Amino acid sequence: MGKVKLLDPSVVEKIAAGEIVDRPASIVKELIENSLDAGSSRIEIELKGGGLEQIVISDNGCGMEEGDAVLALQRHATSKISAFEDLEEIQSYGFRGEALASTAAVSRLELTTGEKGGSKGTRVVCEGGEIKMINPSAPQEGTRITVQDLFFNLPARKKFLKSLQSEESACLDLIGKMALTRCSIRFQVKRNGKIWETYAAGESLQQRFLKLFPQTPDSQLFPVEIAQNSMRLTGFIGAPLFSKSNRNQILIYVNSRLVKPGVLSQAVVDGYSGYLEAGKFPVVVLFLEIAGKWVDVNVHPAKVEVRFSHPKEVYGFVEKSIALKLREIQEGIRPHVIPFYHSDSNSNSYLPSVYLSGSSGRTQELALFEQNGDYQIKTRLNPAAKPKFLSFVARTYGLFQEEDVLFLVDQHLAHERLNFDLLESRLKDSACPSQELLTPMSVQLPSYQVGIVQQYREFFRTVGLDVEDFGSGTVLVRSVPLGLEKIGSKSFFLSFLEKVENLEDSKSRENIYKKILMTMACRSSIQAGDEISPQEMISLFERLLNSSNPYFCPHGRPALIKLALDEVHKLFRRK
Ligand code: ADP
Ligand code: MG
Repeated sequence: MGKVKLLDPSVVEKIAAGEIVDRPASIVKELIENSLDAGSSRIEIELKGGGLEQIVISDNGCGMEEGDAVLALQRHATSKISAFEDLEEIQSYGFRGEALASTAAVSRLELTTGEKGGSKGTRVVCEGGEIKMINPSAPQEGTRITVQDLFFNLPARKKFLKSLQSEESACLDLIGKMALTRCSIRFQVKRNGKIWETYAAGESLQQRFLKLFPQTPDSQLFPVEIAQNSMRLTGFIGAPLFSKSNRNQILIYVNSRLVKPGVLSQAVVDGYSGYLEAGKFPVVVLFLEIAGKWVDVNVHPAKVEVRFSHPKEVYGFVEKSIALKLREIQEGIRPHVIPFYHSDSNSNSYLPSVYLSGSSGRTQELALFEQNGDYQIKTRLNPAAKPKFLSFVARTYGLFQEEDVLFLVDQHLAHERLNFDLLESRLKDSACPSQELLTPMSVQLPSYQVGIVQQYREFFRTVGLDVEDFGSGTVLVRSVPLGLEKIGSKSFFLSFLEKVENLEDSKSRENIYKKILMTMACRSSIQAGDEISPQEMISLFERLLNSSNPYFCPHGRPALIKLALDEVHKLFRRK
């Protein structure tokens, strides 16, 4: 007898519902999205028993007439798209027509709704997906949905839920995060009958963010607004010193949808690279707006993931925008922001464009350039403002003065930053000028280190370090990266390999490569205590100012410290 059979529709319904509704917070999300899509200006959310006992969402949106209200409870019934192509220009949160049906399938749901100015409202009662009652109700403007006894017919699902408190916090956290997307809309949250939070209409993003994360000092948040042809990034980024030990406060929205941490949160973290110590994560709330055709929102049933058609460009734009903003903060450049567009009417592709931010004394211009999908930060220094070398301090620091600002430069960390930038740019351009050693350097290694050489040989070669496994534990270093000749000494090479060996537990390959470059840069740099000439110090400083990040070495230690003369006067109580 055949074993294959069609599943009973009620089983299909429950399976499908599981993809969208797995806990109270996912219902809260879907229902708020519906209220937003309905054009509401006020949304009220009530939770009882962590949302398992009851969730009520009422809005003053467009409401529904009776026929629509009944149809809306069926799977794949939607008013938001009619053809697949509509997804390209989708403005609404919903489009799959599944949320109401899924919620109704696993709860007892009551929907009352009415259109503005309508002579009557409609009440529909559902139990486990089955419509039990449809009757007229008093006229009302908007929709009210009550979801009770969640998973009453799916006891197995209940077992996977966390404690009531955690389910409730997940709902409250999610409401706070959704409230960030529309500051013009009033949200009120009630918890077990009492008002828990009100997000008044017209509050600022910052005010709402601080409600969600009250321990954030608002002086530590800096506004971001950077636009390129097809993308715009707005929101706030936190000061590097105000960092956290996890990614929970990295909030990223793509076209107003809160998306799961992933590609973009990595771009944010990489934008902070050099500003944060290892294991520290920034606080950010960022909204990326991107043309509908560059982003696919239909890759996850609950729409919490998106896919980009040009992921590298998006990643680069976010990463470099953050880096640029941090640089502005560091330089004390604030609001003179001039988005500047190039347009080329003959081409529909990505266009080269530039974002400029205004001057502050020494820095005349900071710019974000895009060319062929690659983003770079460029700096133009003010030729009026050239810091003067004053002296060496402790054979490690250079003291410079530019008008009313003093600079202390760490010779080792500055050199490390320059070497790192050099290696990184060579890696990017796949141009790896190397210096051949007059006689190849032969080094005897234990077998595990020979393994490391074998593993990274190709990568070493891409940055100009040519090492060959000669057999029986001997390796030959034939050439070293041009400009980093120090690597060609035996003691350097051995300590370099030891460092690489310790990197093995770093997660991604990119991460390991980056750390290898950092190690190369560090080991081949001028050290603290090395005697250098004033000319060398001046050249270091000038090149540092033009580097990708003059203020920090690649490991995140400060390479350059600015001290305003005003601060000095204050120290002597003159001001
Ligand atoms: P989707 O949002 O993907 O269209 P849903 O199952 O969430 O699917 O909702 C189905 C339809 O019900 C929506 O397309 C919308 O027309 C209607 N609807 C749902 N909630 C509301 C609401 N709060 N106000 C007005 N209409 C609503
Ligand atoms: Mg919906």
